[in-house]
Amino acid sequence: MILKELFANFAILTSLIFLYTQLLKTPLNRNSNMNYKIFAGIVAGISSDILMFYSIHIGDSIFDLRHIPIILVGFYGGFIPVTISLLFFIVGRLLIGISVTSLIAIGYITLVSLFAVLFSPKSKGSLQVKIAILLTTNNIILSVTAVFLVESTEALYVLLPIYWIASYAAGILAFYMLELLRKKTILFEKYKLESTTDGLTGLNNVRKFDEVFNSLAESVGQKGEKLSFLYIDIDFFKHINDNYGHGDGDIVLKALGNLLHNTTRSFDIVSRNGGEEFSDILLDCSLERAYEIGERIRKIVENTPFIISSNETINITVSIGAASFPETTDNICSLIEEADKALYQAKRTGRNKVCINQDVNTVPVLTV
Ligand code: GH3
Ligand code: MG
Ligand code: MG
Repeated sequence: MILKELFANFAILTSLIFLYTQLLKTPLNRNSNMNYKIFAGIVAGISSDILMFYSIHIGDSIFDLRHIPIILVGFYGGFIPVTISLLFFIVGRLLIGISVTSLIAIGYITLVSLFAVLFSPKSKGSLQVKIAILLTTNNIILSVTAVFLVESTEALYVLLPIYWIASYAAGILAFYMLELLRKKTILFEKYKLESTTDGLTGLNNVRKFDEVFNSLAESVGQKGEKLSFLYIDIDFFKHINDNYGHGDGDIVLKALGNLLHNTTRSFDIVSRNGGEEFSDILLDCSLERAYEIGERIRKIVENTPFIISSNETINITVSIGAASFPETTDNICSLIEEADKALYQAKRTGRNKVCINQDVNTVPVLTV
């Protein structure tokens, strides 16, 4: 009988954890935002109530795995979610029956949850040891409580060993499942970021650039908005590598990436398209404004001393090709090609300048 109910508790607990991790993909931690903490607290409190519903009844006392969701949420999320889960648990326990036993049960879970909050996952010590201490603390407090509450010694002899085993097994499995899913989520987010970010500069990489540009090309075309594009290429970058070494070349690329990020508008999309080529997608921006932004970038780069590994400063310049929809092309998909042609023109006609492709008939007012 006892085994049957504890097994039901065990199965419910693992299903709830699985559902929780599927519903909430981001792992809960002490720095999670308030809404997330509140939500996690509610889920843990309700889980605890569900587990109580399937408990083993001995006299007035009930035994189950209700402590595990509360320990988990206190351990990972801290004070706020554990307090919320406790409130849910208290209401659930009092609904089952208001008695001295239920008050003692509330005291016991409150004490256990306090321990869980004290053992932060980030504090010193191995996770396994902390989990073992938390589960053992719970089992000891529960056993002491049970000795006071359960009159039948025979019942205690049967209940306590089974409870200890079930509590350890379910607790370890619950932590293991959560840790596994947490690691998977963290790795997934890391790889997702790495697949879209340039490792050297932290800007969008070319894959992300393509994705953003294609989706923008579709939406901007439909909405009839403007879209401008700047292609930015460092002048004679090969000389920097040749004179100072590849490592210093990387330092310059990184610093230029930062500079571009900091000098453009927050909603512009800056990418490193490859080697020493960068780009800036300017949302809802006319050709004239794009040219001004390009000029501003060009001047800032020209006037910025780049510090390399030997603490020497070097200066670089960039050439920029600008193109704009619908001003230099009425086909949004050829914006990149247009800007590339303009960049080539800037290189051919002296570098350190911003150019607009002059071959295009649609080029209106602007002469550069
Ligand atoms: P231009 O003014 O015509 O653009 O001349 P450039 O020397 O900048 O252009 P070129 O295409 O001849 O050379 C680009 C150089 O950029 C060659 C390559 O070694 C260097 N490069 C490409 N990727 C990286 C990188 O990740 N790190 C470093 N340090 N250098 C790189
Ligand atoms: Mg270059
Ligand atoms: Mg180049």
